[in-house]
Amino acid sequence: MFDNLTSRMSRVVKTLRGEARLTEANTQEMLREVRLALLEADVSLPVVREFIGRVKDKALGEDVVGSLTPGQALVGVVSKELTALMGGDLGPSAGELSLAQQPPAVILMAGLQGSGKTTTTGKLARWLAEGGHMQNGRPTGKKKVLVVSADVYRPAAIEQLKTVAGQAGVDFLPSSTDQKPEDIARGALDHARRYHHDVLIVDTAGRLGIDEKLMLEIQALHKILNPIETLFVVDSMLGQDAVNVAKAFNDALPLTGVVLTKLDGDSRGGAALSVRHVTGKPLKFIGVSEKLAGLEPFHPERMAQRVLG
Ligand code: GDP
Repeated sequence: MFDNLTSRMSRVVKTLRGEARLTEANTQEMLREVRLALLEADVSLPVVREFIGRVKDKALGEDVVGSLTPGQALVGVVSKELTALMGGDLGPSAGELSLAQQPPAVILMAGLQGSGKTTTTGKLARWLAEGGHMQNGRPTGKKKVLVVSADVYRPAAIEQLKTVAGQAGVDFLPSSTDQKPEDIARGALDHARRYHHDVLIVDTAGRLGIDEKLMLEIQALHKILNPIETLFVVDSMLGQDAVNVAKAFNDALPLTGVVLTKLDGDSRGGAALSVRHVTGKPLKFIGVSEKLAGLEPFHPERMAQRVLG
């Protein structure tokens, strides 16, 4: 992820660190390079503009101009702004799941068809069942997880979740295409309560595009389930289009976080920054392989540090 961005940004940083003096000219040159690096990584133009504007304001500020090592100070500004752009401004635990509540903690998965919802449901279930989840830096232990599919339009989707649940070693509640999604949700909640599951993950139907019926349906599910986490799953290969999809889901649902999938492909990663910006919600996980182990929690600060080299 961000390989090109990393090589371009680290070049800028290296040059800057070597500058004994910051002039109007070399500051402009640096901003131009950063702008190009972000655009090339597929970050959307309004997001890039705002980012550059913020760096520029601070670059002209006392902390940088008055510093004994202005190049270094400016690197500090870029680093801080990049961390914020990646979600670091949302607080250190923004990327964690909020599972601390009366069980079952419900996680609702939202997104277009093909985004990786079902795969991510399996990945999350496995991760939680194996005790991967941390809160305030501490593992919260192995969770008893139940998954269910509310996709009544594609029998194959229900089958797929069953397979994935088997691989993840978690409980699967069968559902069928003659049920109503709302009834599946109510039934799953009852089942999870009765059998003392810590977490219930509800996979939902997706469409190829944004569709009003789909949105109304998932809003109804949200009302019934009252999930502690509503995760928007988005394919990073969508590039710029990811922004519009994210906006539509964010307007329709109180999202709590984003999962960006398929970062192992040709994606340049910029969608992560744009989606984070338009939704104002933290990127919680990234998908880095088709396999169930291919899920990683996202850490803004670490990622920003890596990009800057
Ligand atoms: P859904 O329609 O949203 O439930 O999407 P699926 O979970 O069925 O995923 C669609 C396709 O993307 C499948 O072929 C998955 O194996 C693949 N996929 C999902 N997440 C990832 C990922 O992080 N990396 C890669 N390479 N493929 C993924």
